[in-house]
Amino acid sequence: MASGSVNQERLWSRLMRLAEIGRQASGGVTRMSFTREERMAKDLVAGWMQGTGLSVREDAVGNLIGRLDGTDAHAPVVLVGSHLDSVPNGGKFDGPLGVLGALEAVQTLRAQGISHIHPIEVIAFTDEEGARFRFGMIGSRALAGTLTAEHLQAQDADGVTVAEAMRSAGLSPETVHKAARAAGSVKAYVELHIEQGRVLEAANLPVGIVTGIAGPLWLRFRILGEAGHAGTTPMRMRKDALAAAAQVLTAAETAAAGQKRTVATVGQLTVSPGGVNIIPGCAEFTLDLRDTDESVRDEVERQIRHQAEAICARRGVRLEIQELQRVPPVSCSAWLQEEMAGCAQEMGIQTLSLPSGAGHDGMQLAGLCPVGMLFVRSKDGISHQPEEWSSPEDCAIGVELLYRTLVRVAN
Ligand SMILES: [Zn+2]
Repeated sequence: MASGSVNQERLWSRLMRLAEIGRQASGGVTRMSFTREERMAKDLVAGWMQGTGLSVREDAVGNLIGRLDGTDAHAPVVLVGSHLDSVPNGGKFDGPLGVLGALEAVQTLRAQGISHIHPIEVIAFTDEEGARFRFGMIGSRALAGTLTAEHLQAQDADGVTVAEAMRSAGLSPETVHKAARAAGSVKAYVELHIEQGRVLEAANLPVGIVTGIAGPLWLRFRILGEAGHAGTTPMRMRKDALAAAAQVLTAAETAAAGQKRTVATVGQLTVSPGGVNIIPGCAEFTLDLRDTDESVRDEVERQIRHQAEAICARRGVRLEIQELQRVPPVSCSAWLQEEMAGCAQEMGIQTLSLPSGAGHDGMQLAGLCPVGMLFVRSKDGISHQPEEWSSPEDCAIGVELLYRTLVRVAN
């Protein structure tokens, strides 16, 4: 099947050019929010937006927006995009494909001389990944009007708050509410993204239509025992925080594995004092828990909390659990899924409907407007790593489907 109207070479060369910003020796990409690299990425994309005839601005939270008016400038806007920030040493496609795909779709729309009623805004959201401040989707939260004063006080590893980082990037946290869109002002949000999983590859299909997005729940566990001399403290007299943490980790893994779709991950663990010959006095770790069914996810959380309390009580160590974020799962709009399926049929391609295990900006926007997402096949399901890969052909097919969807949705 030909990718059709979109320009595969232009899309691909932009993807590769953007991947040079924040490029690491490993071949991966590091572009954290409110940094020089993120600024450079936005400037590069802003230039391409201008060259495409879009009017470019950045809103109060730093979301980059390129707007193309339709025949009715006052009609609700169609938002289409993704993000430009990355995790440390991440890939070239997670985020950029959705932003540059949206730009390519709009550029194709202009080249084909297709009229549209609704204004279209290509958007690159600020900090989707949450890699810097341990909570993500800052730009989409602000756009939905749900970014709070508490969010702005969250700190990165160096103690820099979101508000301070915004100021250093030339933004005013005091006016962040201005990024919020009014109810009824957005007709739809559509995003193209890599799958970051193996489902499409296993089905031998280039693109998929997303049914819903699993909601991440992030907890931080802190277990406080007693540091002591590794040589002189008998086993029965120890309050080893790390040994307790190890049991809690296993309990979390077992609880998630007992469900069909629940996934539980401990991605960070720190031990102190951290000496070879010192019994760990404190162990801290994070837990990321997800499911597209909120009640199942929350039931697994209850099991893990209950077991953690029992383990820590038995070992005589103290347990503190802090909730970092609790995002409800989101269903994608049935209307948008139908439009996407209709466009795929037009193109003569078979697609698959699948849920998203990864979080996306659309989750934050679901209260504001209908949300639709398309996935492009990921090689070996690898993501958030330098080896992240989707073929030029698959990317172009995804953008073609995005383009056709946009034509329908903006009219
Ligand atoms: Zn992403």
